[in-house]
Amino acid sequence: MSAPWYKSGLQFKCEGTDCGDCCSGRWGPGYVWLTLKEMKGIAKALEITFDQFTLQYVRKVGERYSLIERPNHDCIFYVEGKGCSVYDARPGQCRSYPFWPHNIDKPEDWQEQAEQCPGIGCGDPCDKWSRKEIDKSAALYPSARELRFP
Ligand code: SF4
Repeated sequence: MSAPWYKSGLQFKCEGTDCGDCCSGRWGPGYVWLTLKEMKGIAKALEITFDQFTLQYVRKVGERYSLIERPNHDCIFYVEGKGCSVYDARPGQCRSYPFWPHNIDKPEDWQEQAEQCPGIGCGDPCDKWSRKEIDKSAALYPSARELRFP
């Protein structure tokens, strides 16, 4: 198998405290896909039952499940100026951003994402992510199998 195009690494540093673009509705509507394990984990963090959690925070989209959004398309757990209110239990999709498999498939995909996220190819100081770190992060993105369950 040949080495990926990002074998020399990629530059990314989360702007952190005041950006929140990937959690807020500034990019428009979107989905935060959930595995069964992640749903259970967030319910536990919120100290509510699994049924309460799914009724209050989850929507079914086709065969998959996503967190709901606020009317302005902010993630339901995003708090302006503070960030994620379930940070320690946040889903793999959130943990792996911006190294989602479809964002690093080709240089053009990464470039397209860079047009939205100011942390990609960032300025000074920037973090250089090695191929190993990128692959490890991308592996946190849930697989199609993990997202489909009865
Ligand atoms: S769960 Fe947390 S990290 Fe994920 S999109 Fe929502 S606010 Fe952001």
